[in-house]
Amino acid sequence: MSLKNIIGQDKVINFLIASINNDMFASSYLFIGPDGVGKTLVAKEFAKLLNCETASLDACDICNSCMKINKNIHPDVHVVEKDGSDIKIDNIRQLERDIHLKPFEARKKVFIVKDAHFMNAEAANALLKTLEEPPKDSIIILTTSYPHRIFSTIASRCRKVYFSSIDIEKLSSILENDFHLGKADSHYLSYFTEGRLGKAVALKEKEILGEKNMIIDDFINSENLRQNFFDLDAKNKDDIRYNLDILMTWFRDIMLLKCGIDTASLVNSDRRKELLDLKNEYKMEDLLKIMHRILDTYTMLDYNINPKFSLEFLRTKTWEKHR
Ligand SMILES: [Zn+2]
Repeated sequence: MSLKNIIGQDKVINFLIASINNDMFASSYLFIGPDGVGKTLVAKEFAKLLNCETASLDACDICNSCMKINKNIHPDVHVVEKDGSDIKIDNIRQLERDIHLKPFEARKKVFIVKDAHFMNAEAANALLKTLEEPPKDSIIILTTSYPHRIFSTIASRCRKVYFSSIDIEKLSSILENDFHLGKADSHYLSYFTEGRLGKAVALKEKEILGEKNMIIDDFINSENLRQNFFDLDAKNKDDIRYNLDILMTWFRDIMLLKCGIDTASLVNSDRRKELLDLKNEYKMEDLLKIMHRILDTYTMLDYNINPKFSLEFLRTKTWEKHR
């Protein structure tokens, strides 16, 4: 992999390559774009290009530096990420210590602060000092899908780079042709991820259709919900969010069919017939209520409220219709 091989972010990549070629790169960047669009991937490729031992226009992918970054073992390329529920001051203090050391072998040390909106106020304040006086041999790249949650004092010190999703049909053909996925998997992944290549690639190894159908069936068909399906103690919040994302696509599909949308744009087109039957079981207002309830549950998770009761309510409202 190298920058030029990343599909669907041509504008961003051309901008970054041009900034290196013209010696115009900034000491800190803020990569903004939806979750799973490839921001961290591009940040790592940028680190490779900055430090590649042989290439000038793009990273060679085979030199010592490129290989170490590929394996996440380069001593001068650091990824700072959420530690528990947030990025804490200790994580940023470690970054401060590392950034003031001489590089071990890199031309530019690179620090990637992943999902920087998770920095708590203390951590953000500490980072601000580093951003104000950045060491010359280092680059800091913050990534975020929630730019409004980044302190403006921090955002204003970074060069902003905007990432976007790619066209869903285009992503589907990329998954089929470049990643050799089957047609049904490619369709589902491109619709489910709403054109986010990074997320689609992260999910592509899973038995994706089987898994999402199990999650849907578990929710709508069984009277006794599997014990730990939505149990906060047993599952982490990201798993619950993932399950909710899948349920959301299910009810969204029923809603689209009620609106007369073509079945080709259903996320769950592998269950087209079942969805067509179900559309008459639901009133539009039921569907709206269910989708609002799912959105409420996301909010509960954000605020550390156990969503179990909300989910049980949601389920009793829905499973009768599926019998
Ligand atoms: Zn290289």
